[in-house]
Amino acid sequence: MNSRKTALVVGTGAGGAMIARELQGRYQVTLLEAGGAFKPFSLPVSKMAALRRTGLFLDERMIRLLLPNMLVEKTGDMVMVRGIGVGGTTTLATGNAVRCDGALRALGIDLNEQFEALQRELPITTEHRAHWTDTTKKMFGLFQKMGLNPVVTPKLMNPARCTECGHCAIGCPTGAKWDTRNLVDEALQKGAELITGCRVTGVETAGRAVKAVHAVHHGRRRNFTADLVVLAAGGLGTPAILQNSGIACRQTLFVDPVLCVAGPLPDFRQDR
Ligand SMILES: Cc1cc2nc3c(=O)[nH]c(=O)nc-3n(C[C@H](O)[C@H](O)[C@H](O)COP(=O)(O)OP(=O)(O)OC[C@H]3O[C@@H](n4cnc5c(N)ncnc54)[C@H](O)[C@@H]3O)c2cc1C
Repeated sequence: MNSRKTALVVGTGAGGAMIARELQGRYQVTLLEAGGAFKPFSLPVSKMAALRRTGLFLDERMIRLLLPNMLVEKTGDMVMVRGIGVGGTTTLATGNAVRCDGALRALGIDLNEQFEALQRELPITTEHRAHWTDTTKKMFGLFQKMGLNPVVTPKLMNPARCTECGHCAIGCPTGAKWDTRNLVDEALQKGAELITGCRVTGVETAGRAVKAVHAVHHGRRRNFTADLVVLAAGGLGTPAILQNSGIACRQTLFVDPVLCVAGPLPDFRQDR
């Protein structure tokens, strides 16, 4: 009889994939993933502008027709993008490996040990610099001359596999960019189970314990039980599950904004 404790991990993004890989062995892990296998965008980037001109893409949300794992939602003026599928949003992320724990340290949360462990494990590099276009090199040089002290963004990637297609954020076709599908594979190799097309709708609790996890699996309701339940459905997905379960969440959303400064640069062609 297998007496190993069981764990359910909801989501296969940065949080879910890592915890599943870590737990498998000590627990028998089952990953519940709302989406399916990740399918990268298959058209060349240069065709996108032409497509936009056809007027067929009236709304950002229609990107899903071409990139089924990208879920775009709108609330007021805000457009929210996330990945639904194996690898979560990491399949759509830019692959920047910038360490942003300074503000947390100021709050008394020291994640140095964890960041050091990630640094040792993940393929973090600045070698992509060799793939820079002349314009990027020129801009970097200009910023240096201006005394702005630019630094090369470390990337989660294997530069040797990069073909400079520009598809990093819509699905790297060569596997040059690292994403958490690697960790899911490692968990599966260690014996974990992955159930795709399984959207968790809520958790049923008794006191402080989870009695059951309710889900819809390919259109059919299913209930799961385990000794340990980890909700890692993302910053938008997890609060929705908690709220559906009658577990109060604060009505706040922390947004870490990236400031992009745009300006015209003749012949740069990035706008295409
Ligand atoms: C366009 C873009 C670019 C980014 N670039 C970078 C970058 O360069 N560097 C960086 O560090 N970060 C980047 N990020 C942020 C990074 O991707 C996220 O911080 C990270 O993926 C969050 O991990 P997570 O596990 O919390 O959520 P996610 O990675 O979103 O994973 C959530 C998982 O839960 C699943 N799920 C959701 N709801 C349910 C449900 N009800 N039932 C079952 N499964 C469910 C989803 O399918 C998904 O697999 C970027 C994000 C975006 C949108």
